[in-house]
Amino acid sequence: MVKIVVVGSASMDLVVTSSKRPGAGETVLGESFKTVPGGKGANQAVAAARLGAEVTMIGCVGDDHYGEIIIRNLEENGVCTSFMKPVTHMESGTAHIVLAEGDNSIVVVKGANDLVTPSYVQQALHPIHEADMVLIQQEIPEETVEYVSQVCHTSGVPLLLNPAPARKVSQEVIARASYLTPNEHETEILFPGLTTEEALKQYPNKLFITVGKQGVRYHDGTREMTVPAYPVKAVDTTGAGDTFNAAFAVALAEGKSIAASLRFANRAASLSVMKFGAQGGMPTRQEVEESL
Ligand code: ATP
Repeated sequence: MVKIVVVGSASMDLVVTSSKRPGAGETVLGESFKTVPGGKGANQAVAAARLGAEVTMIGCVGDDHYGEIIIRNLEENGVCTSFMKPVTHMESGTAHIVLAEGDNSIVVVKGANDLVTPSYVQQALHPIHEADMVLIQQEIPEETVEYVSQVCHTSGVPLLLNPAPARKVSQEVIARASYLTPNEHETEILFPGLTTEEALKQYPNKLFITVGKQGVRYHDGTREMTVPAYPVKAVDTTGAGDTFNAAFAVALAEGKSIAASLRFANRAASLSVMKFGAQGGMPTRQEVEESL
């Protein structure tokens, strides 16, 4: 079993469906409401655990009911939560999602995710040093991503940075990361002034740009490649990127080649869009292998 450490966010998604989106000052009657655990960090931790890795998550929740549910959900999925701290007098991170008129509107409140600071991560260096791969995203403070990249670099632990949501990333962090996995929009923020082709050529076998149902693009040192996704009937693409990242990290940590890891990640992510919810569709190892 490979060891994966996820440093990232864990939140509760509060999802309302409504036939109409309320305008300013307006009240509308919604149709349904549900709460589902989310946050890119927790989603990737759950996906990696379902794919058979030994996963430790480093993050923070509030001392509220949502925090308890978030931690229980991670544990039910086999994720080690020894470094998931419920912070006193703090609320858990939440995403307030309105699904209306065929699209979503989201307000994210970072809550305890903002407390995943370098000094907090410093108390959890042991699992990082022991990891086969560290996985990090950008729903936690920028200085934490900076710090974790330094720790991984000096201790020789491979780091996969999923630079989502989009924000600028320093040249040092880009240099220290072993793998970068932006989508197309995040690529533009990451490499301003470079075309996608130029960015891929500059970072062969390191930059992997996910392109939705088309799959993933990268440069293998000789030429640009596209590894196609699998044609499936997409029901809900929420969390496709999280499944892709987790699966890619697990496969690389297991020593698979880049091409084989991308096929595995594409397959897992394609399976994930066939069911509702970010975590709802994340496949098990067996489901991916049976479909390869
Ligand atoms: P999200 O933010 O919705 O989780 P993302 O923008 O980070 O996604 P995408 O590039 O949309 O990432 O998708 C990631 C991967 O998921 C793709 O590389 C592909 O393997 C798979 N995928 C996404 N959409 C589809 C689809 N419609 N059919 C099959 N596979 C898909």
